[in-house]
Amino acid sequence: MYQLYRFGTRLSSYGTNFVIVGAGTAGCVLANRLSENPDVQVTLIEAGGPATDPSIMDPKQWPYLTGSGVDWGYRTVPQPHTDGRVHDWPRGKVMGGDQQHQCHGSCSRASQRF
Ligand SMILES: Cc1cc2nc3c(=O)[nH]c(=O)nc-3n(C[C@H](O)[C@H](O)[C@H](O)COP(=O)(O)OP(=O)(O)OC[C@H]3O[C@@H](n4cnc5c(N)ncnc54)[C@H](O)[C@@H]3O)c2cc1C
Repeated sequence: MYQLYRFGTRLSSYGTNFVIVGAGTAGCVLANRLSENPDVQVTLIEAGGPATDPSIMDPKQWPYLTGSGVDWGYRTVPQPHTDGRVHDWPRGKVMGGDQQHQCHGSCSRASQRF
């Protein structure tokens, strides 16, 4: 059985065998595999909400997800090798995690040596 609880939910009132923190790629795969066993209860906790922002499904919009409600809003410290600039450091805060920030692009083989 697969269960998702947001912050603030009292887990002690539910029986659970595994608690997974973070519903990114790793957390979702782990929850899926563990929950294949019908005798096991899995709790998957995600800080963000469901991936309902339509921009997530539009590949052109991915740069605008940085700093939005589905991003943790991290920034680097000033970087000496970029003239002291501070850079956005996008990380998904949403069901699916960082994968929801990607532009779903692909590239084909560029040369025989690739
Ligand atoms: C913009 C961008 C582009 C990328 N492009 C590529 C690419 O082209 N090719 C490639 O191979 N990889 C790419 N990556 C990297 C790849 O997406 C990540 O390495 C991978 O998705 C990480 O998965 P994860 O499960 O380890 O972590 P995440 O996907 O970061 O999942 C962690 C989850 O945990 C949640 N969380 C964190 N703290 C807590 C907490 N305390 N309580 C509850 N939940 C919490 C977060 O909200 C998040 O949903 C890209 C990443 C980004 C950000």
